[in-house]
Amino acid sequence: MLGNCYRCNKKVDINDVPSHAQKCNELKDNECVIGVISEGVSGKLYWVGMICTTNTKLSHIETFLKDIWLYCCPHRSTFSYNKKATLMDVIKKTGKMERIMYEYDMGSTTSAVIQVLKHNEACVLNTAKKATITLVCQNRAPLMKCVDCKKKAVSVGENGGKCGVCADEEDLPLLNSPRTGVCGYDGENLPENVALFSRQY
Ligand SMILES: [Zn+2]
Ligand SMILES: [Zn+2]
Ligand SMILES: [Zn+2]
Repeated sequence: MLGNCYRCNKKVDINDVPSHAQKCNELKDNECVIGVISEGVSGKLYWVGMICTTNTKLSHIETFLKDIWLYCCPHRSTFSYNKKATLMDVIKKTGKMERIMYEYDMGSTTSAVIQVLKHNEACVLNTAKKATITLVCQNRAPLMKCVDCKKKAVSVGENGGKCGVCADEEDLPLLNSPRTGVCGYDGENLPENVALFSRQY
């Protein structure tokens, strides 16, 4: 699944994201990069890379992911780790951050795997007061075909993608999110320019 690095504007394939996080010339030494990957209902993979200060809590990452990817209604969610822990806590405890599993919505569950892609001693010195998360790379929206006529899908219904002509009224917009087509996900919280999206907590 091809995507873009918003820092250097290079194309990045899903398999190259970890190595790109290490070697991207536009990333600073003290920037800690976290990767998240999630599978959508169609089986397509969605991923993001984000620069996080080391005082970022897992709960902040959850809020961020809800904004760009997940939130449809107040579903329950779970982490395989204490969500109040900061990235520093996790890295200290596990050496290198282990894969942390996150689940949103215990009915039509969307699962995500969170992992450190880049971290070194310089990040440890990062003592910013507020936790900051900045989106740095993301997959391009995967193409989906209309299940009826095979034209490019623009919305998603019970049976899959639909083009503008074949779409039913209750279909939802097709969005670049693992949550597209699930529950009532309509991307209401999506930032306008995702390439510049950054949040402080
Ligand atoms: Zn780059
Ligand atoms: Zn929902
Ligand atoms: Zn169609």
